[in-house]
Amino acid sequence: MSLTEPPAPATGAQAAVPAQAAVPAQEAVPAQAAGSPATGRCPDCGAPLPPPGRFPLWCASCEWNLLPPEPSTAGLPGRARRRAERAARRTARERQAVRERTEQVFRLVAADGSKLRHGSAVAAFLLAGAVHLVSLAVLLAGVALLAGWPAPSWPARALGAFALVLAFLLRPRLGRPQREGVLAREAAPELYGLVDAVAAELGAPPVHSIVVTGQFNASFGSYGLRRHRQLEIGLPLWTVLGRQQRVALLGHELGHDVNQDSRRGLWTGAAVNALVEWERLTRPSRDNEDYNNPLTAVASSAANLVLGVVNLGVRAVAGLMYRLHLRDGQAAEYRADRMAARLTSARDAQGMLRAQFHAPTLETVLARQRALARPRPGVPAPGLWEALAEAAGSVPASEEERRVRVSEREVSASDSSHPPTYLRLRMLAAAPPADRPPVVLDAGRAGVIEAELAGSRVRIAAELL
Ligand SMILES: [Zn+2]
Ligand SMILES: [Zn+2]
Repeated sequence: MSLTEPPAPATGAQAAVPAQAAVPAQEAVPAQAAGSPATGRCPDCGAPLPPPGRFPLWCASCEWNLLPPEPSTAGLPGRARRRAERAARRTARERQAVRERTEQVFRLVAADGSKLRHGSAVAAFLLAGAVHLVSLAVLLAGVALLAGWPAPSWPARALGAFALVLAFLLRPRLGRPQREGVLAREAAPELYGLVDAVAAELGAPPVHSIVVTGQFNASFGSYGLRRHRQLEIGLPLWTVLGRQQRVALLGHELGHDVNQDSRRGLWTGAAVNALVEWERLTRPSRDNEDYNNPLTAVASSAANLVLGVVNLGVRAVAGLMYRLHLRDGQAAEYRADRMAARLTSARDAQGMLRAQFHAPTLETVLARQRALARPRPGVPAPGLWEALAEAAGSVPASEEERRVRVSEREVSASDSSHPPTYLRLRMLAAAPPADRPPVVLDAGRAGVIEAELAGSRVRIAAELL
């Protein structure tokens, strides 16, 4: 619960994708890494193992070798060993705490999300109000002091100017839409048509712009005072998705526009940004302490002490905001997933989530493509996108299952804004059947969209390689 993991950028884009740190990129590792049995049976429980391939061998019955073995602490000297053991216990405790919190949100949403939505969102709204009030007070104090209230004097004016600078630093930050990589509506009428159709089904207004990037990700955000509505499509992720999974992805992202996600509002979002700024401003500095001069040493220690106390307070407020958003934000993510399932099917939405485990595959393919000889520097080797689709498509079911279970084992490793993937998959498994015909992306339409994306593919392949 630190400021380095804010709940969500205020106005900013929200990835559909948990951080992929949970799944070690192991494709380059030979399957026999952990001293695997030659018998084709699990050394722990004797269950049959799949034939060895390019992925780690593991046992689905007892989860033998699910994760690479931890380095042993037995060989370390006494103090280092105890420190390593303490660190391991702390990690396990934190992971357990996150597991309990996220699973509690899961149970509440699965039962009935409405109570959850109101309680924590209202609290976050009020807390944001308190933050804005402090910013406003600093601004008004600055103006008053500069204007000569309560009594005009130079020190008061200087203080007023300082307060105005501070108020400027704390100003609400509303974000800016990306300018680079924007695909114009005229250049991609079919893609915009599909996105408009998804938005209409969800009851969301149409987007203002679509940006195509090289991220293994997708996001949606509203930016600036005029709330420019921008959808970001990461072409690598788009490439590994099936046609209906692409519709599900659009459903999840545009779902963020109508799922009452309090993190994204102007009000709370701007407060979160202000808190991040306050934390940075009040962080005590250790660099400029001058211990040669006792007077400056005492003065800087005192200043750091005061700053430290303020900083602690700011961190406490930010921590509380984070906790409130954790509940409300994760509930919003589940709602966005359900919208994706309603537009397509639970199976397509689950496939879209599982595809997000292919991020390491992208890295492997990129490394391979970079190693290929190229005719001219700066000209990408042909076939990056085909190679990526092929590599993702050939990941066996047992490896997909392993990645889901790793997500469950390492619950804390997924990002702070989305629930762990195993819980999202579980929630979708319990989703009610769709009550309407799905939005279908047929082969013909998908082909037209592919042609519209051709220019982006060339540009992004050159950027990635
Ligand atoms: Zn999301
Ligand atoms: Zn086993």
